[in-house]
Amino acid sequence: MHLIELYKSVQGESSFTGLPCIFVRLAGCNLRCAWCDSEYTFSGGKPFSADEIVAQIEALAPCRLIEFTGGEPMLQAKELIPLMDRLLDAGYTLMMETSGERPLADVPKAVHKIVDVKCPGAGAAANSFRMENLAALTKRDEVKFVLSDRADYEFACGFIAEHGLNEIAGGVLLSPAFNKSPSPLRTTDNATLDPRTLVEWMMADGVDARLSLQIHKFIWEPMKKGV
Ligand code: SF4
Repeated sequence: MHLIELYKSVQGESSFTGLPCIFVRLAGCNLRCAWCDSEYTFSGGKPFSADEIVAQIEALAPCRLIEFTGGEPMLQAKELIPLMDRLLDAGYTLMMETSGERPLADVPKAVHKIVDVKCPGAGAAANSFRMENLAALTKRDEVKFVLSDRADYEFACGFIAEHGLNEIAGGVLLSPAFNKSPSPLRTTDNATLDPRTLVEWMMADGVDARLSLQIHKFIWEPMKKGV
């Protein structure tokens, strides 16, 4: 598998926020979101065998929570899914961040999928979500919308209602997008949509979703890698 980085930090978004977590960041992405903060994953990376990745994970014991992310991890599904099965058998709790553009039906059901449905503000990546992946969602999974503006918020609210996301998934995340060139300050000024504005909209509309603030961008400088 082609790996960009593997490190331990705190999980920064989702219902696992704040928990110690090992991040396995895989190389490559087939989308180009306008606000992408991980462009360094688009190329490069180094090849590692499953044994080598497991050894790196074991060296970070006693952490038992692992998140596969990228890039788009499902581009390496052929190697990734057997590795997930192996880690689940070893007793780890697994998460995966994915755009949902690749088929998810073969992902082991025990994996907590965080599926990032792209909104219009994602630019070229908008509407990339593969609709049949709705059938692969379980109550372990969470659906995330990264929001740049009011139009994205309304798209997310419509998608949540139309597809009954709170009935088929374990939760919905609304996450303000960040500027592509944020200041080093750890403040909400770097968000393209003010979280306070988003909360006001959510309260006014009674939206059944969780505000998600990418806490790593407030603990460390927003552009810092490996955290
Ligand atoms: S799917 Fe993720 S890694 Fe790929 S372009 Fe979008 S934000 Fe960046």
